[in-house]
Amino acid sequence: MNAQTTRLAVLSHDPMKKPGWRDEARRAVTSLEGLERALALTDNERAGVVRALAQGLPMSITPYYLSLCDKHDPACPIRLQCVPQGLESVEVPGDLRDPLGEEAHEVAPNLVQRYPDRVLLLATDRCSVYCRFCTRARMVGQDGGARSDEKLRPALEWIAAHPEVRDVIVSGGDPLVMKTERLERILSKVREIQHVDTIRLATRAPVVLPSRITPGLCRMLRRHGPIWVMTHFNHPRELTAESLKALGRLVDHGMPVMNQTVLLRGVNDRAETLEALFRGLVRARVRPYYLLQTDPIRGTGHLRTPLARGIEIMERLQGRLSGIALPKFIVDTPDGRGKVPVGPNYVLSHAPGVTTLRTFRNEVVDYIDPPGV
Ligand code: SF4
Repeated sequence: MNAQTTRLAVLSHDPMKKPGWRDEARRAVTSLEGLERALALTDNERAGVVRALAQGLPMSITPYYLSLCDKHDPACPIRLQCVPQGLESVEVPGDLRDPLGEEAHEVAPNLVQRYPDRVLLLATDRCSVYCRFCTRARMVGQDGGARSDEKLRPALEWIAAHPEVRDVIVSGGDPLVMKTERLERILSKVREIQHVDTIRLATRAPVVLPSRITPGLCRMLRRHGPIWVMTHFNHPRELTAESLKALGRLVDHGMPVMNQTVLLRGVNDRAETLEALFRGLVRARVRPYYLLQTDPIRGTGHLRTPLARGIEIMERLQGRLSGIALPKFIVDTPDGRGKVPVGPNYVLSHAPGVTTLRTFRNEVVDYIDPPGV
């Protein structure tokens, strides 16, 4: 059975009735038995699921995302992102529980500030799919679900008291697993703060639960705009008819959509795969924004590539893709010291008035500065 046939099997509960997004989220697979029914698991995956259910990052896979998995291929790039592996128990040097130092940068409960002009509001710890490379594996799916108005009040008061904050990233967990009304309450409270210019909504819903992107949700988001949607496609197979429709709906309602791809070993660590993904995103009017080196999250060594691999891929894509399709390659440095753009070196030397450059065709050219400046 191929991935498409599996997909039909998973979605074919009632061909007459299309389930709503909440029903679909509720039917997410969270048990070993459920996963065994959908996929032919390896011992490594079985061990991973048992471990995930007992400790650490839980497992949840929506019927939609499960339908994209190849039933028989454990190397399937979708499966690698959502099915736990026994290798998650292996720690390697450099692994960190909180790689971005978010706990140390918490300025109020559920509020992280790592840069002067922006903050991260952690509105929930729930996701419809728990990605096996999640930077917040330490907290997602662990404690309490959507944060109540009461629990978010100190964070909102802190933002209101800090006029340097111009950009609020509403994240979690995935804020789009919350009810639309609850999300709207949060967005309207952020919008009441005069110095906030931009709200960003960080969500994987277009990838793992595209039915969540309803016309009603989009109309609500438009009312509280400008809202930039930050999403997270990692492989061209995630660009299905359903996800493209969801993206189109967001863009048609006036939301700029940006994509952050995480570079994952065995999933997307080939220039051809990323080229297809970035071209597909641009066709969908989504800007490939960052290609992120995977953070050194505890238990993800099997999914990470050496940094040199990403640089090599960027070198191959430079010149092959236009600027709108080519993201920055970023390392988010450990302990929350901030993002660093990395890439191939195109500056060969500097001398007074002249800089020697290397082009994407490996030609060496001098750039001459204007005289007297
Ligand atoms: S959706 Fe985002 S927050 Fe949730 S598990 Fe995936 S990467 Fe982590």
